[in-house]
Amino acid sequence: MAETMSAVIAEDEGEKILKRTIPKQIKYTQGGYQVGCPDDGLQNKRIRIDTQLRYIQAPDPKRAHFIQKIFELRAACSHTDQQILHILNEEMGFRTKMRNRWSKDGTEIVGQIGGKKLGIKQLQRIYQRTVYAGVLNEKWTHDKPVKAQWEGLVSIELWNKANRNKLYLKEYPDGTLEMLYNYKTEKPVFQRLQYNPEYPFKCVTCPECGEQLKGSAPKGRNTHYPQYHCARGHKSFSVSRNQMDKTVEEFFSDVEYSEDYVKVLEEVLVRRLRQKQDDIVQESKTLDERVALLKSEKSSLLKKLISTESDTVSKMMEAELENKEAEIKRAESYRFTVDLTEVDVKELIGYARKIVESPEKALLDKANPLRQEHLFKLFFDGLPTYAELASGTAKKRFIFNGKCIVETPEIGVSEQKGRRRRRCTNCVC
Ligand SMILES: [Zn+2]
Repeated sequence: MAETMSAVIAEDEGEKILKRTIPKQIKYTQGGYQVGCPDDGLQNKRIRIDTQLRYIQAPDPKRAHFIQKIFELRAACSHTDQQILHILNEEMGFRTKMRNRWSKDGTEIVGQIGGKKLGIKQLQRIYQRTVYAGVLNEKWTHDKPVKAQWEGLVSIELWNKANRNKLYLKEYPDGTLEMLYNYKTEKPVFQRLQYNPEYPFKCVTCPECGEQLKGSAPKGRNTHYPQYHCARGHKSFSVSRNQMDKTVEEFFSDVEYSEDYVKVLEEVLVRRLRQKQDDIVQESKTLDERVALLKSEKSSLLKKLISTESDTVSKMMEAELENKEAEIKRAESYRFTVDLTEVDVKELIGYARKIVESPEKALLDKANPLRQEHLFKLFFDGLPTYAELASGTAKKRFIFNGKCIVETPEIGVSEQKGRRRRRCTNCVC
């Protein structure tokens, strides 16, 4: 009888203790503190908050590296889970943590468990645990992620990568977190570049159809293969980027430049530049006149505006005046773009000399495909096809062509004398 009584009392007592302690534990958990056994790779650490004692988790120096390795391998996406297990178990010597085994009534230790190899399910449970990213997400936080009071072993970014968007911890600017499932990050948009510095020789044309080649890097089994290619209604033609670099360089290294022609080239270039400068002076003059005309129109408008008494008319005139001012601004800003100063010309002549002195270097401008195209146009008689380059039969303009008679050519007389062309002051096109 007495035994039964004491058992009932003990049970009662136990319940009371739980009622007293569990709400506190829930509160601590929601506040981001540690309650209960530490997770593998972490250990409990006591800290003092004012006068109160709390627990957080800190890296376990003996086991933290295992967990970090799991996240790194998962995030790299280069290994299957089975391969990760192999690395952990066989190469790094992972064994599960040893724990005491208690008797059924919980009064004595009857042995130890653990010390086993990592299994696939356990591996999955590990990388899905948010505590390793310093985030609590469990029943007591109502399954809502809460920032823990410790750093964790990996960053949230790495954690997300390791979970490959099946689970995704989204951080908001106010510091709150949300757990998303099968999260789709938007695919990055790659802008197609006409003058992509990765492919400087798109100005070489296709031997099949004569159009300029395209550049891209299709993916093979493991890596990308950058290449130039074309398949515009014909059997696909492609050449690897390295091969193209080699072909172009070889072509230029084979070109011979005799001193005479070099002089002619310089002369021609200088003459072209002077002519260009002359054109620009002419255009500047016309533009100056236009600005002056607009300005005089504006002043006459102003005079009229002052003498107008009617409200409607003055409003209309004010609007017109505004338009005129905008027009003047536009005309003036364009006016500045067409100026080619003596400094520019000197720079261009310097550039022409560079071509003359070291054509191989100067005619290859991989960093700027637009300029490369212009250089090719200057050097070749029409853009060369790949086959012509490879066989060394690409037609060069006569100054570069050893057999020609020296005379002064007009390079690009057929070029339009449009505004766009004239603004192009960085090259010798
Ligand atoms: Zn083609």
